[in-house]
Amino acid sequence: MADKRDYYEILGVDKNADKKTIKKAYRKLAMKYHPDVNKDDPEAEEKFKELSEAYGVLSDDEKRQRYDQFGHAGMDGFSQEDIFNNINFEDIFSGFNFGGGSQGGFGSIFDDLFGFGTPRNTGAGRDIVHTIEVTLEEVASGVTKDIDIRHKKTCPHCHGERAEPGTNSSTCGSCNGTGQVRQVQNTPLGQFSTVSPCPQCKGEGKIIETPCSECHGSGLTSTVNKISIPIPAGVETGSRLRVAGEGDDGINGAPAGDLYITIKVLRHDLFERDGQHLYYNLPISYVQACLGSEVDVPTIDGTATVKIPAGTQSGTTFKLRGEGIRHVNWSGKGNLYVNVHVVVPKKLSDKQKELLEEFAHISGEEISHVKQGFFDKVKESLNK
Ligand SMILES: [Zn+2]
Ligand SMILES: [Zn+2]
Repeated sequence: MADKRDYYEILGVDKNADKKTIKKAYRKLAMKYHPDVNKDDPEAEEKFKELSEAYGVLSDDEKRQRYDQFGHAGMDGFSQEDIFNNINFEDIFSGFNFGGGSQGGFGSIFDDLFGFGTPRNTGAGRDIVHTIEVTLEEVASGVTKDIDIRHKKTCPHCHGERAEPGTNSSTCGSCNGTGQVRQVQNTPLGQFSTVSPCPQCKGEGKIIETPCSECHGSGLTSTVNKISIPIPAGVETGSRLRVAGEGDDGINGAPAGDLYITIKVLRHDLFERDGQHLYYNLPISYVQACLGSEVDVPTIDGTATVKIPAGTQSGTTFKLRGEGIRHVNWSGKGNLYVNVHVVVPKKLSDKQKELLEEFAHISGEEISHVKQGFFDKVKESLNK
């Protein structure tokens, strides 16, 4: 992964480029390196894939944000298919004739290049998505969560063969056992070749005479398994973790799907979070602000002391270095920002009032009471 090129560099665009610019850059380069116009250049295909990956990420707001924040490491949770699926190839290449003749059409191109794009029944297991909620404390420390996942695993009775053990299956005559039928469609953009599962055998290639009594011929049975998910410190809402092979099992020896964990970080009562940094609002009294004070504040894993210097203004922010959240990829921690605001007391005793008036007097400050406020002055002027 380390030798991967920067996506912006690949597309030759600025880090702040808008979507239109990125699309234009991709379209131009993709036309140039399209495998159909570079049939003798094997490097063009690699180049085209690299371009498409860069565009797939940068054209998607969520993926682009993750990439900007974490670089290539941030893309670990996304499969190549995830990324390429963002791209509307029909839109990108509309009006462009690759001269591919009967082999043309992007259906077959992208199917060949990326191994997907046209529906086919490979028997591969389904991916499963599961959301885990974590507290901010758990984000700070990292946590392991045990979750129950219901997924389909190979039927223990027929071992995924789908036929009742001891019975026979016959090869499907419609597709000669391939499970697929190919259809050619003519479109204004050229000929599309699409592959779809054989309707006769539903893509299985064989006709099962007696389905397995346990899985009813699906080859899979639904089971619940407890899976431990280690969640690294520093994750955010929307972070995705991939647990390989814990989706549904495949059939006919096809690979199992993956389990994708989406993280949801719960709101915290005391702290606001922005990336690695935490924010805390600390109310202090007028006296503390005037005279200075040492105040204990909560941190995500304990307490810390903030020194409020004499003469601190309301709205001043103090930085507690390293009291924030660990970064998911680096060892560094963010900061805790303590924002102080001076609380004015709503009720005062007579003694307190007296002392404050004396304070004002010493300070040479003229305090006019509410009784002699604006309306009294208006009244006074009317009585003149
Ligand atoms: Zn079975
Ligand atoms: Zn068939």
